[in-house]
Amino acid sequence: MPDTLRALDTPVFDRLTIIGLGLIGSSIARAARRTHAAKTIVAADISEDVCNRVRALGFADEVTSDLTAAVKDSDCVILCVPVGACGAAAEKIAAHLKQGAIVSDVGSVKGAVVAAMQPHLPSHVHFIPAHPIAGTEHSGPDAGFATLFLNRWLILTPIENGDPAATDQLATFWRAFGSNVEIMDVARHDLVLAVTSHLPHLIAYNIVGTAADLETVTQSEVIKFSASGFRDFTRIAASDPTMWRDVFLNNRDAVLEMLGRFNEDLAALQRAIRWGDGEALFNLFSRTRAIRRSIIEQGQDTAAPDFGRHAADEKE
Ligand code: NAP
Repeated sequence: MPDTLRALDTPVFDRLTIIGLGLIGSSIARAARRTHAAKTIVAADISEDVCNRVRALGFADEVTSDLTAAVKDSDCVILCVPVGACGAAAEKIAAHLKQGAIVSDVGSVKGAVVAAMQPHLPSHVHFIPAHPIAGTEHSGPDAGFATLFLNRWLILTPIENGDPAATDQLATFWRAFGSNVEIMDVARHDLVLAVTSHLPHLIAYNIVGTAADLETVTQSEVIKFSASGFRDFTRIAASDPTMWRDVFLNNRDAVLEMLGRFNEDLAALQRAIRWGDGEALFNLFSRTRAIRRSIIEQGQDTAAPDFGRHAADEKE
């Protein structure tokens, strides 16, 4: 497994445009700069405040709030905006895209994003949806870092009859950041992510809300004794509200399916506790411990205490 980013001999793209310079967009820009994966990096964000901050941080060659000017002559355009904003952004840039350009995104939901973007895009561009399985609970251009995608999965969900050479080129770009690229069907992506990412976030938002609303335990007690488990949910529940609202609104069917299963399993646990079925509890907890071991063995976290939380150290 690579432990750092290395510069490429030849850039993958001459001109790369990133739209939306938050955690993910600014991390792509930083990684592209570090690895020389693009000759020129253009940063575009509708927010003038974000643009000014990106200028100050200095990881892009050009910065603008004019999305249409930003995509002109670009070989690759990546939308890094909230899922609910992808369709409107695609509509805005569509008429200004270069012949043969790659257009991609990083949305945490794929079916709804493809349905929102594809109708606007001209046939002379290659649309290749993508989703990096990497992130933190922080937002904005200051939150990004070049090694965010190192040893993390990047899922591509190419559309039917797409150009395989363009997909290969985008995969090469992400591999330069240390990502492991996987190709997946859109519906499969949304189902897998519903259970591995969307449901855990919903549970975290819910449990932190429940604790915050308790009348019999004070807020100060909740915070004081949080290290007993609650604290780890609060990290996930601190994730960006706009992003996660859009994820749940746009992956409704898969999330509801997984939530139904979750509720059934929770009812079984409730029953085991009520009836004193220690064996059922012990068996489940042993199985879940084994899953944690597999995640560590596959390099998706470390066995260090504090749940291997060392993102700050990784920020090079
Ligand atoms: P973020 O830090 O909030 O950044 C989003 C940026 O996009 C903000 O600067 C926002 O400006 C800007 N923006 C919003 N609407 C726009 C538009 N129509 N045109 C141009 N810029 C626009 O969010 P993020 O965490 O990077 O997430 C971006 C995307 O990555 C989402 O689709 C999310 O699903 C996906 N993703 C996130 C993670 C994660 O862990 N965070 C992981 C994988 C994928 P304002 O601040 O002014 O609104």
